[in-house]
Amino acid sequence: MSNRLPVQVTTDDAGRLELVPSSGGLVSALRGIGEEFSWIGWPGAVIPADEEEGLRERLAADRLYPVLLDQADEADFYGRICNETIWPLFHYFVDRMLFTDSAWKRYVDVNERFAEKIAAHSPRGARVWVHDFHLMLVPAALRRRRPDLSIGFFLHVPFPAAEVFRLLPPREEVLLGLLGADYIGFHTSDFAQHFRWSCLRVLGIDSEPDAIEHGGRSVEIGADPIGIDVARFRQVLAQPETAAMMNELAERYSGQRLVLGVERLDYTKGIPQKLRAFERYLEDDPTRAKTTTMLQVLVPSRLESAAYRLQRDEIELEIARINGRFGQPGRTPIEYMHRTVSPAELVALYRRADVMAVTPLRDGMNLVAQEFVLCQAAAPKLPGRARGVLLLSEFAGAAQILPGALLVNPWDIAGLTERLVEALGMSTPERRRRLALMSGSVRRLDAPRWAENFLGHLARATRRNARAAVAPPLDRGARERVVVRAARAGRRTLLLDYDGTLREIVEHPSLARPTPELLALLAGLAALPATEVHIVSGRASTELEAWFGRLPVALCAEHGYRVRPAHGSWTTPHVVDLSWIPRIERLFRRVSAEIPGTHVERKSGGVAWHYRQAEPEYVEWRGRELLVHVEQLLSGVPAEVLCGHRVIEVRARGVDKGAYVRTLFPDGKRRDHFVLSAGDDNTDADVTAAVPAGSVVLHVGQVIESARAAGVREQYVVASPAGVRRFLHELTAGVSAGGAGPAA
Ligand code: UDP
Repeated sequence: MSNRLPVQVTTDDAGRLELVPSSGGLVSALRGIGEEFSWIGWPGAVIPADEEEGLRERLAADRLYPVLLDQADEADFYGRICNETIWPLFHYFVDRMLFTDSAWKRYVDVNERFAEKIAAHSPRGARVWVHDFHLMLVPAALRRRRPDLSIGFFLHVPFPAAEVFRLLPPREEVLLGLLGADYIGFHTSDFAQHFRWSCLRVLGIDSEPDAIEHGGRSVEIGADPIGIDVARFRQVLAQPETAAMMNELAERYSGQRLVLGVERLDYTKGIPQKLRAFERYLEDDPTRAKTTTMLQVLVPSRLESAAYRLQRDEIELEIARINGRFGQPGRTPIEYMHRTVSPAELVALYRRADVMAVTPLRDGMNLVAQEFVLCQAAAPKLPGRARGVLLLSEFAGAAQILPGALLVNPWDIAGLTERLVEALGMSTPERRRRLALMSGSVRRLDAPRWAENFLGHLARATRRNARAAVAPPLDRGARERVVVRAARAGRRTLLLDYDGTLREIVEHPSLARPTPELLALLAGLAALPATEVHIVSGRASTELEAWFGRLPVALCAEHGYRVRPAHGSWTTPHVVDLSWIPRIERLFRRVSAEIPGTHVERKSGGVAWHYRQAEPEYVEWRGRELLVHVEQLLSGVPAEVLCGHRVIEVRARGVDKGAYVRTLFPDGKRRDHFVLSAGDDNTDADVTAAVPAGSVVLHVGQVIESARAAGVREQYVVASPAGVRRFLHELTAGVSAGGAGPAA
């Protein structure tokens, strides 16, 4: 599924629709995988209503299924959000980003329609590969409709640094949309890393370098740099037309050094900067204008946009100005073509160029760079082999896979000029060495292989998720079933974690007081017949007492170091050695003083270091360091470290929520005893492991990793504390009504 179908629909003179198949990397990549597939996308034109049916039929013959967009969709979804919001932002052109809510609504709507279409066309368990920034909400929209599908997403543009990404107003929506996938591929590992940091900063989700836990699934991420269609370029190189074109160019540029630029018209491509560097090159020695020609091919693109027309005008003015300054009778130092070129012409140009100047300010990959390398290195029998140097922006994804390129910062005009001089003066053996290095990478990244690799990664991620799927979402059906069981039981025990489970996590723990709604909910639950409610928390007993002291609920504070039955007073059931606390507390306080946004909480049976408000990248590094230090201090000490949600806690060994829960069920539970636990982080894994067989376990946000192994109990994932509260309201109503199930 991609924004565009691999056909261009046009109207002929008689007004009939014509379908012209498009070529391009993606088409050949997918053709190469040797499996049957359908393609869903926009045919690239607004189709009159009376032509729709006919078009659908013609496309369906090739297994192409159109999503039809009208003019308003095209203007808002494609023209605005894709081209004027996401494209500039993802390429770091922050001040070019425009955003309107109304256009965004259309982006959401079009993404939903794409998801709807693919949901309707996918057989059970099919693999769906969603392409690019136009369709970032599709993975989640599709998973909602079809959880059976294996969903992969590939981003063809850069994923910007979190600091830039978070400028996007609907940033949460975009991340959650992408997280609907099983596997997300990027061109480079930097982009994957940026995505992880964005998930952390925007959604507060921690992750591993290759996977993000979300909604009970593990979303794998990876780098799959796209390649070019090597076979197709080899074919074009072998055509007689190409040979004729090469001869023509040999004659045309005889005795000249040719600097080539081939770009689609776009402000991300750094063409004005490149022109200025060439001007500087001529300025330094005006006689160079006699022996060096720069040929700039500018492929027309998005000319319906005023910004793009302006960019074209700027480029044309620059070229005219430089030619005016350094031109001679019969010599223009910069030649310029604003049109598409045929494959033969393109390949012949690549082959003839002495220097290929690819200097985008930002580019996801840049295929031109790879095409140049291949055309220079392949076909040893043809003339002009292996003479060219690739001058490549370090801000193109290609810079990470082409080790022999001369890397440049396109913003540094003086540096760019120096590199151009270096490239033009490079010895032939050095050019050959560099090309040989790069051509190996280009052959390996071949487009069909890229597609195969991506699909392999997707299959692996999907298998892993299927194996790990111990906990489905607590959907309406599951809620009804659980409530009916609770209502029919003779006795009920509810074990509820507080922070992140009953109440949303907020910036500072002291701000997470229970709301009146939550207190009423707990009072209602505790008032149900034969029902025990336990708040099983890591918080200090003083806080739990202040907040819930008046309710007839049992309180378990500090993971069980202090406990209070529903009708009784606080006790300290464990006799433990706490002599280590001052040492750990001193260490925590010292580190805390150095890191803004962290604080220390002293409890009666332990000490905790909270870092929720700290800068996440820095604190992750310092946190790791701190953990090593703590482990050293604790050697031989009866205490253990616990990593919760942005908190590191040290407590006496053997005191955990699980030990508390086990005291409640010394002999397991009877069949008619309904037991439910709900928790959101590692400290709750102890509860999951301790509840008796036949209990129901709710995981908030994600399945706690260590609970996966348990796998024997009935487990569900609830998206948020609000979801838990809603479910508990339904449970209260259902039990009060005596098993009639939740109200509709
Ligand atoms: N290209 C083209 N028409 C032309 C000249 C070039 O379609 O007249 C192709 C070129 O061969 C390359 C693609 O356009 O495959 C440009 O891809 P790139 O990744 O360099 O930049 P993008 O346009 O995707 O930003």
